[in-house]
Amino acid sequence: MEREAMEYDVVIVGAGPAGLSAAIRLKQLNADLAVMVLEKGSEVGAHILSGAVIESRALDELIPDWQAQGAPLTTPVTEDQVFLYRSETAATRLPDFAVPAPMHNSGNYIISLGNLCRWLAEQAEGAGVEIFPGFAATEVLYHDDGSVKGVATGDMGRDKDGEAKDSFQPGIELHAKYTLFAEGSRGQLGKELIARFQLAAEATAQHYGLGIKELWQIDPAKHKPGLVQHGAGWPLSASGATGGSFLYHLEDGQVAVGLIVDLNYANPYLSPFEEFQRFKKQSEVRQYLDGGKRLCYGARAITKGGLNSLPKQHFPGGLLIGCDAGTLNFAKIKGVHTAMKSGMLAAETIQAALQAGDTGRSDLNAYADAFKNSWLYDELYQARNFGPALHKFGTFLGGAFNWLQQNLFGGKMFFTLKDQSTDHGQLAPAASFQPIAYDKPDGVLTFDRLSSVFVSNTAHEEEQPIHLQLLDSDKAIAVNYKQYASPEQRYCPAGVYEIVEESSGPRLQINASNCLHCKTCDIKDPTQNIRWVAPEGGGGPNYPNM
Ligand SMILES: Cc1cc2nc3c(=O)[nH]c(=O)nc-3n(C[C@H](O)[C@H](O)[C@H](O)COP(=O)(O)OP(=O)(O)OC[C@H]3O[C@@H](n4cnc5c(N)ncnc54)[C@H](O)[C@@H]3O)c2cc1C
Ligand code: SF4
Repeated sequence: MEREAMEYDVVIVGAGPAGLSAAIRLKQLNADLAVMVLEKGSEVGAHILSGAVIESRALDELIPDWQAQGAPLTTPVTEDQVFLYRSETAATRLPDFAVPAPMHNSGNYIISLGNLCRWLAEQAEGAGVEIFPGFAATEVLYHDDGSVKGVATGDMGRDKDGEAKDSFQPGIELHAKYTLFAEGSRGQLGKELIARFQLAAEATAQHYGLGIKELWQIDPAKHKPGLVQHGAGWPLSASGATGGSFLYHLEDGQVAVGLIVDLNYANPYLSPFEEFQRFKKQSEVRQYLDGGKRLCYGARAITKGGLNSLPKQHFPGGLLIGCDAGTLNFAKIKGVHTAMKSGMLAAETIQAALQAGDTGRSDLNAYADAFKNSWLYDELYQARNFGPALHKFGTFLGGAFNWLQQNLFGGKMFFTLKDQSTDHGQLAPAASFQPIAYDKPDGVLTFDRLSSVFVSNTAHEEEQPIHLQLLDSDKAIAVNYKQYASPEQRYCPAGVYEIVEESSGPRLQINASNCLHCKTCDIKDPTQNIRWVAPEGGGGPNYPNM
């Protein structure tokens, strides 16, 4: 069956803050443009997981009367607390003056990013943007001259062996003058484009964290709308790993609690999921959760290398925006306003080119200039040493360095710290470590992975080609099992990878239907042997308001 093709001025892959802001800006600038957005989640917001405390700067520019238009930013931050956790019961609250300036949240809002994206999608559709949820872009299409022609959505209705079932529907080709890739962290197509156009040739290695989050309904007597808690130290420090935690009191008596584990950790026995369960037992955290009920669970990678790791974002026929490129400001642990701004800059660049008579396929250098002249660049420049300092000097000394550079020098130090190491390359052989003994879950405060995946409402069509591809199937046992004690069993927050001991020897079983689309396996596998590709559109988590 032939694939149908549809023509647009601009096709956007991903209905996150970057993609939707680009779509809205394009229509604001030229209502006649044909703009479409593809989203792999069953609806806009279904795959969106964030903290989230957001800075409204980009939204103020995009939709200045957002408040009057009913944007779901209803909980202003009322109090900031930053803790250094030393054990399950010991914590030191940092006095305000000791907190790096970018971590102050006065003027920001605690939101559900899923809900903000749903609202942005309404604004976009109101302006005439076509949004297609339930369709994953699985292939980049190229013109003969090598420029990007558009994307194709994946086929629907193939069985495990790739054979067409009765329900088979071929994918659709979407051709555009320009295609924007806004897939978020570790985008499948973004990764291909970075390699093909050597976009990262002048960047240091990209860095990632795995964010694991739960949403709780807590005892109303304990709920303090607007309270923001951040923390570092225990439990990750006990295994020599780093990361940060958050606990946000949002609206309706709900609290978002999460742990972001830096994916450059060395110990293959470390389980980010179990570390998160441990973290919830910390007295400062559990005081709010005790007596409450968990509503939802999810996980998502975060791209945090910042300016040093940012690839070139333009290439013939397209642009890479938001976390697909890596625009998150790690010093603030905020990527929403920066993703939105990169989308808006991309839209402005495209409209200016089209207005000047451009017919597509160009390599839009003008984006790099617009970026360089924007507050987005200034922010990322000031934050450029934050992540490398933590990687090089650890939480405590790195934290002190960051306080100095942010509070005394406003991020304008004359030197740039660089971190060339890859996250996957930091994983050390299991022989150097002892397995970590994690407690059994109590089913009240702490949980196991399967019951967690259940509350993420994850569902995939079972009869489809596997979307977690091993480039060399022998390596799963020959390398991962033998040298690294199969770390994928632990770093996957959904229990997708399981070693089954059989009489013929160990075998890696992949329970792909539990996949949360967090992308950690694509990032952390020590030999880069796992390739995440989008499953049939609509599959994956169905987050309500994450
Ligand atoms: C745990 C956690 C906490 C965070 N806390 C904060 C915070 O407090 N404040 C803040 O500002 N930022 C925070 N961030 C970062 C912030 O969420 C991201 O920077 C932001 O969401 C990036 O926006 P984006 O549009 O680039 O990508 P995303 O928000 O990831 O959106 C990408 C969209 O594209 C879709 N998609 C991907 N691939 C395809 C495909 N091939 N075809 C079709 N659709 C596709 C996805 O389903 C998704 O809907 C946090 C992140 C995490 C994980
Ligand atoms: S299989 Fe990979 S992408 Fe899916 S949940 Fe596990 S680590 Fe994340």
